[in-house]
Amino acid sequence: MIEALRVFVYSLLPKRCAYCGRVIPSNRLMCYDCEKKLPRVTGTVCVKCGRGKEYCSCKGVEKYFISLVAPFYFDGNVRKGIHAFKFRRSPDNAEAYSFEMARTIKERFGDAEFDFIVAVPMTDKSKKSRGYNQCSLLAEGISKKLGIEYKPDFLVKLYETEKQHGLPYYLRKGNLTGVFDVSEPSYVKDKTVLICDDVSTSGETLNECAKMLWLHGAKEIYCVAAAVTKSERKKNK
Ligand SMILES: [Zn+2]
Ligand SMILES: [Zn+2]
Repeated sequence: MIEALRVFVYSLLPKRCAYCGRVIPSNRLMCYDCEKKLPRVTGTVCVKCGRGKEYCSCKGVEKYFISLVAPFYFDGNVRKGIHAFKFRRSPDNAEAYSFEMARTIKERFGDAEFDFIVAVPMTDKSKKSRGYNQCSLLAEGISKKLGIEYKPDFLVKLYETEKQHGLPYYLRKGNLTGVFDVSEPSYVKDKTVLICDDVSTSGETLNECAKMLWLHGAKEIYCVAAAVTKSERKKNK
């Protein structure tokens, strides 16, 4: 009841830009200023980390997924907007981000035919305390826009881990081993799956999720994030 009331009261508030938070006309997803200045991923992009070549430090190393794409770098007002989306209870920001993600998927994965889309999971405990999994909201939005089936709670997170961005690069891989599982293993065989994340730093979370799908026989796995960090290793030096 309280949640329904919150949604109702929220709907009476003026619409805000999903990036900088400024009030905008109700028919827009972002303000004119952000439209011009958002840190978009452009130019030649590395297929494995989703960054422009100038920021790629992954050297195209093999992953369990074919490719990762993202419309934005995690910087400027994208950082601000995603932070609000995750931590300040602005779930309707998913609309603006999933719109951009769907557009990037069409541009970059135009030929791929996805059987279904899944979200990077949170533990039940974290989901309860936040009220929603932001990656699920993004996956749902993309599903509606592109007509791809969304399988909620398909990937599960078994226990809480140290936040990936708080760990040095060399510890991130081991931090996630055995953390994720697939709820319906028999459904994966020979399927082409799209995994949806909010922010990808090293790509290790997506890779570990992809590994679980691969283990159960997925044919092809692709990934999309709302944003990728600019340069992983530089930041941790
Ligand atoms: Zn704005
Ligand atoms: Zn790369």
